[in-house]
Amino acid sequence: MCGIVGYIGNKQAWPIVIDGLRRLEYRGYDSSGIAVLDPAGDLKFRKSTGKVSDLSASVAESPVDGMLGLGHTRWATHGKPSENNAHPHTGHGGRVAVVHNGIVENFIELKRELLDKGHVFSSETDTEVIAHLIELGLDSGKSFEESFRETALRLVGSQAIAASDSYEDEKIYAMKLGNAGGIVVSHNGEEGMVCSDLPAMLPIIRNPSA
Ligand code: GLU
Repeated sequence: MCGIVGYIGNKQAWPIVIDGLRRLEYRGYDSSGIAVLDPAGDLKFRKSTGKVSDLSASVAESPVDGMLGLGHTRWATHGKPSENNAHPHTGHGGRVAVVHNGIVENFIELKRELLDKGHVFSSETDTEVIAHLIELGLDSGKSFEESFRETALRLVGSQAIAASDSYEDEKIYAMKLGNAGGIVVSHNGEEGMVCSDLPAMLPIIRNPSA
């Protein structure tokens, strides 16, 4: 169970999210990744199996522009450590970004159901079913909030999840089911963060007037 960092505000998201991931490195991880919602409304993903500094170097080389970002440090439970399996994950239509700490104990049944509906998966993780279930709800006309809540009801096990919708540049959704680490939220009026641990949000807590 590793690290979650989400940021929305008036600054470029990726340096803040990566700084947050660095502050969570002490928890241990095998890979990391980030998704940023760009001004055109597309989610851009970057992933690395190295250290957070490798992720940071690769994003700095080809920056992802946008003020909403979600990042994760992964400790693999389902699927090997690899770029494909690193979070954030997206669903069938690429509309959502999901980061997750914990284990979806019934992921095989859920994945089978989604495969039967024609969904194509790009990772071996249990996490990816969460993204697909949310998109299934969205495809049937439900709001993100409804789809997110209904997805929660289908998951067995303990989870901390943060997710964003490429159609909404001012919201990150988060939930905690059982005990898979924390979800903490902080905002100072212009910026907000959602993280699995307090140290990741020190930059905005320490700079309340930013
Ligand atoms: N079960 C998820 C995975 O294997 C999340 C692991 C974690 O908590 O980092 O990707």
